[in-house]
Amino acid sequence: MVVDIKYHCSGEIIEWKWSSDSKLLPAPFWTSCFLIDGLLIDSGAPGSVEDLRKFILSLDDDHKVKKCVITHSHEDHCGGAAMLQSEFNIPIYASKKALPHLKKKKNYPDYRRITWGFPYRPFNAKAVETSILTCKNKYRFDIIEIPGHAMEEIALLERTQEWAIIADGIMPKYTMIFGKTTDIPEDIFQIYESLRKIEEITKNMDNLVIFTAGRGVFKNRSIIKEKIEEIEDLHEKAFKFQKEAQDKGLDGKRFLKYITRKMFGKENFIGKLTRGGLSNQNLIMSLLEWPLEKK
Ligand SMILES: [Zn+2]
Repeated sequence: MVVDIKYHCSGEIIEWKWSSDSKLLPAPFWTSCFLIDGLLIDSGAPGSVEDLRKFILSLDDDHKVKKCVITHSHEDHCGGAAMLQSEFNIPIYASKKALPHLKKKKNYPDYRRITWGFPYRPFNAKAVETSILTCKNKYRFDIIEIPGHAMEEIALLERTQEWAIIADGIMPKYTMIFGKTTDIPEDIFQIYESLRKIEEITKNMDNLVIFTAGRGVFKNRSIIKEKIEEIEDLHEKAFKFQKEAQDKGLDGKRFLKYITRKMFGKENFIGKLTRGGLSNQNLIMSLLEWPLEKK
């Protein structure tokens, strides 16, 4: 297993990054937890429980975890929470919409078991309302609902410090690893709307720092605009190639294959590995469900 600890914002934010080192993975897939004044945001994956325990035990009194908030119910974000609750008596919070997902057993396919570990231990969390304070009341994070990647996902925004923890609210490229047909029912229109919402809420924050789960820390807001434009571009292209496919009289599998090839060359290797569970085709279907004029 690989653990990487990073310090951000003069050491006020500790990022605990984790990836499995399984030889079966084509590349490391990272997830992150963030520790700020005793508040832990997210709790790693089921496979990282042992490493997370070591991290928790290594913290001095000043940094002890007193509470934890979960951004969404995917196993790479909530996998360590049951351990934090049962062994350290740490209260766990999440959005109201996430609570039923967190207390259910999860049964996910092999490729995710290899990446994030198995089994997931369910737990009962408390609902977080509009904001959450860090433990010595040093910082207040507003809770912003950002549905799309997961319907219950939340971002945390510290307005005075201009810190936004948005976990999986931003992805490196919306060309691959898109769920839809599985228990990760992503929706590109909702992702787009959530990005627009973050852009609007943070419009006067010139020094905004954006923290994603394992996919980097961005020191200004430009990444939000880039992502919005990327999605707008994909949306237009999907409709353009849909028309071409219709004009050629293609249907069924050939129809989607044609659009995939035109937009992305071919289905990415993760699409094949996951038998379409996380794929370009899912993204195309989601783009086409979003009417062009709705933008
Ligand atoms: Zn996720």
